[in-house]
Amino acid sequence: MATNSNKNMAVKTGMVGRRHQRSRKEESEFGLGQKEFLKCSDCGVVYFDKSWHHGLLEEKQEHLKENRQFKFTLCPACKMAKDKIFEGEVVVKLKSKNEKVKSDVLNTIKNSDEQARERDPMDRILWAEDKGDEVRFFTSENQLAVRIGKKLESSFLGSKLEIKHTGEDMIRVYWEY
Ligand SMILES: [Zn+2]
Repeated sequence: MATNSNKNMAVKTGMVGRRHQRSRKEESEFGLGQKEFLKCSDCGVVYFDKSWHHGLLEEKQEHLKENRQFKFTLCPACKMAKDKIFEGEVVVKLKSKNEKVKSDVLNTIKNSDEQARERDPMDRILWAEDKGDEVRFFTSENQLAVRIGKKLESSFLGSKLEIKHTGEDMIRVYWEY
C-alpha cells in the first residue's frame, strides 16, 4: 500500500503519476472566470470548485446554471486513457471456460468501477483488454486495483489474489479463478 511518506517522496522526485501533477496544475493554472466551467468532451464530467464533478451534480446546482460557459477539454482520467497511462492494473485469469463465470466476474468488476466513479469521477477503470481467458483492467488510481482484487477474492470462493507494487505508485493485482 502506498504510504503518505512514499507519496511525498514521489512528489519531490517528480515520479508521481501524471494525473496528480495535472490536478495540481489545474487548480493554479486554469484561471477560469467565475461563470466558466471546464467540461470533458469525452465523459462529460465538469470542473468547478477545484475538482471534477459528475455532470448530473452540476445540473442540480442552480447557481451554476446562470450564464455559465463551458470550455471543452479532456478530463485527467480521459487524458490518461488516451495516453495509455495508468496507476493500477488488475490481471484476471480465468481457468474456467464457463461464460457465466466470466460474466459474473466482469459484473463484479463493473460494480466496483461504478462505485469508485460515484465517489470520485477521476477514480475509474480507464480501459480493458480482453483476451478470452485473461482480461486486464487499467485503473486511474492504484487503490482501485486493490479494491477490485479484494472484492473479487471475497466474492469468488477459492480464488487466488496477489498484489504487487511495481515502481513508485504502480500496483499490479493478479487474480485467478
Ligand atoms: Zn473525461
